[in-house]
Amino acid sequence: MEKNKDFLEFLVSHSKRYGFIFPSSEIYGGINAIYDYGEYGVALKNNIKDFWWKSMTQIHDNIVGIDSSILMHSDVWSASGHVQKFNELLIDNKDSKKRYRPDLLIKNHVEKFFYKNEKKRKEILSRLYDCLSNNNLLGIKDLIHELNIHDPISHTNHWTDIKYFNMMFKIEDHRKKNLFLRPETAQGIFINFQNVIKSNRMKIPFGIAQIGKSFRNEIVARQFLFRLREFEQMEMQFFILPEEEKFWFKYWKNMRMKWHLLFNLGDEKYRFIENTHLPHYASLGTDIEFNFPFGFKEIESIHSRRDFDLIKHENYSKKNMKVFDKSKKNYFPYVIETSLGLDRCFFTIFSSSLKKEKINNGKIRTVLKIPSFLSPIKAAILPLVKKDGLPEIAKKLFNNIKFDFKLLYDHTESIGKLYRRQDAIGTPLCFTIDYDTCKNETVTVRYRDSMKQYRIHINEIKDVIKKETELKSILRKIHN
Ligand code: ATP
Repeated sequence: MEKNKDFLEFLVSHSKRYGFIFPSSEIYGGINAIYDYGEYGVALKNNIKDFWWKSMTQIHDNIVGIDSSILMHSDVWSASGHVQKFNELLIDNKDSKKRYRPDLLIKNHVEKFFYKNEKKRKEILSRLYDCLSNNNLLGIKDLIHELNIHDPISHTNHWTDIKYFNMMFKIEDHRKKNLFLRPETAQGIFINFQNVIKSNRMKIPFGIAQIGKSFRNEIVARQFLFRLREFEQMEMQFFILPEEEKFWFKYWKNMRMKWHLLFNLGDEKYRFIENTHLPHYASLGTDIEFNFPFGFKEIESIHSRRDFDLIKHENYSKKNMKVFDKSKKNYFPYVIETSLGLDRCFFTIFSSSLKKEKINNGKIRTVLKIPSFLSPIKAAILPLVKKDGLPEIAKKLFNNIKFDFKLLYDHTESIGKLYRRQDAIGTPLCFTIDYDTCKNETVTVRYRDSMKQYRIHINEIKDVIKKETELKSILRKIHN
């Protein structure tokens, strides 16, 4: 556990030092669970988005994209049930004055102390879910006392009573009308359902994909990028015939796991967890969990939302939300939802790829072995020394290739230090221009992961970068 804590600290400091993630509003002392992305962070994030977006809207000819607004009519949230039901439980420790989610206190305790005792784990969790389903807050508090759960800060078990808390951020417009910052992107898809059908001439089954910011007033917002109050989601709602619910649920469950495994972070780091306690809108549900430095936690949920949202929006808006089908006439389609947190996905990739490795002379290098197709910089062009015309040749090469790939030119340090810096930001290839380049137009190519070096002709550079970093070959695997 200590080792994992040290690793998390190393991860946080590396991500700041190399321009991936900065704590937000740092000069004012920071703001809990909100982060800014630096140059390499936003590039990595955009590459993950691009991969997801293409996997959905380019590879599937029956999925289209939208980008709906963050602020919506407040009736959207009454119809969806978020005003009434998007609540979390909270409990305070009387000594530390720290606030917790009691369900998470219990889940974390079970994960820590009963991870080898499947029977006991199931027994405790099923008691928790029973209490949650029956709004039995006293039962949850009893469970906390029975398990003798202590506050990690004060180390006492002096707990307050448990209360409900709505997680939506409420804001006010100039007429003092309430608006909400959306807690999920999905509702923007449902309210545009008929617009998409008409404008794109879509027929069931079809999907609508969206990437965008969501906001949740999380009670326990810790663990770096894992639980944020402002975050991005990549969600897809797939509209189907009701009788095909099980088929499509299984299809998307498998498809989403396949997508994650394409990052090659280690298949054993992922697992499915069937949802025994479903959200108010769902009839089937499963989570994909990832083994973070603090254990297995959810990264993506796949749910059958049935016709819950479309019926509710029809009732509230009095507008038709059904589809017309020759044989079935008017009906509400069912919806299979896949919902992935972009920041959590970033975290999985970053935390699994950052390594300290022993190299020659007992030295240690820090290397970010991210999948090359996601690398912020695809290749660095580096002159061996800062004289004798080598920087000019390197710059010329850079200017020639920069239209095809995101490159970096650097001549500020010795070549060894330049390689270390590129390792630290995950650049898969470095091309070094030296005195032989002047004689025979060859350069050294150095591979990040193996550190192996080869001599190639400058005309081969583009092909080498393409082969190493191309997204197309990864996308092809989605349907294999
Ligand atoms: P959790 O149980 O961890 O709170 P959830 O079940 O509330 O998550 P969903 O409502 O299913 O999450 O949201 C879908 C996805 O959105 C999650 O799998 C996660 O990747 C992401 N997500 C949800 N809440 C947050 C958050 N506070 N910070 C970062 N990502 C989040």
